[in-house]
Amino acid sequence: MPRRHRTAPTAPAPLHGPALRRLRRTLPALLLALTAVIAAACGKEGSPPVKGPQPESLPVYPVNTGFQLPESPTWRRAEGRGYLTVGAKEDQPYLGEKDPATGVYSGFDIEIAKMVAAYLGFDPAGIHFRTIASANRETALQNGQIDYYVGTYTINDMRKKLVGFAGPYFMAGQSLLVRTDEHDINGPQDLDGKRVCSATGSTPYQRIKADYPKAVLVGYDTYSICVDNLLTYQVDAVTTDDAILIGYAAKAPDELKVVGKPFSQEPYGIGVPRSDNALRFAIDDALAAGEKNGQWKQAYDATLGLSGVPAPQPPPIDRYPAS
Ligand code: GLU
Repeated sequence: MPRRHRTAPTAPAPLHGPALRRLRRTLPALLLALTAVIAAACGKEGSPPVKGPQPESLPVYPVNTGFQLPESPTWRRAEGRGYLTVGAKEDQPYLGEKDPATGVYSGFDIEIAKMVAAYLGFDPAGIHFRTIASANRETALQNGQIDYYVGTYTINDMRKKLVGFAGPYFMAGQSLLVRTDEHDINGPQDLDGKRVCSATGSTPYQRIKADYPKAVLVGYDTYSICVDNLLTYQVDAVTTDDAILIGYAAKAPDELKVVGKPFSQEPYGIGVPRSDNALRFAIDDALAAGEKNGQWKQAYDATLGLSGVPAPQPPPIDRYPAS
């Protein structure tokens, strides 16, 4: 067979003359614009003030003084130290956010954590919050780093082998976040060959891996890193619960949008140490009480409701038997 003549691959023409001058002129402005977009999406300094929870609209949780739960080792330990340590997220708008300047946490999950604390007899203002990423929640509960965890934590059977779950207190569903200039991705069926980012150790990450193997899955510790990657065109979509994605989109509506319908059910539970059934049932009682006395709805309206979705009915509490 005659050998075909191969031409050398053509290298991109080097920039010179007017093109280089133009790039030199526009690059600083481009970089500045990009930084502003990223900062706006992350709520970092320099971003325009976005309406967050207004302190006066948040419920006040009267502390259940005299409450005792001696059968719970976790409760006894917290009682001994005088405060609760609660695991949460710090970069999820309207759900769990930490103010970088003050260190104060806010959002719907944070309110749920406070409502539960007051029921258990602790001053909600005294909670020590600790940021724990999706992949580290089970370990944090197993080794006693936290007393309970409130942070978009889906209840499922696999996790139930490792931790206990009170609730659910909210129902979310997996969805997709893309840039507003993206028109090809409208649902998980469009992800073949696309770069999709999610948090490692999360159920949405697992679902893409198992059900959409042709997607190019990219994993990071947090969703805010995924969103940074989306804004800088390193990935084509971010996937996780709609409740989380709606918050990012609400903070940068010119750059980001949520597309398609939710394609899973993600019932949010409060994670507790697996063997502490007494604590789990007490938290179930706390959630039931808060849903009945209006605190749950008030908390929702003052936080997650700000993203534009009206308060749903909370899902029925499971209260599965001790095992
Ligand atoms: N709810 C999902 C999960 O628990 C996604 C959100 C998160 O990573 O916290 O895995």
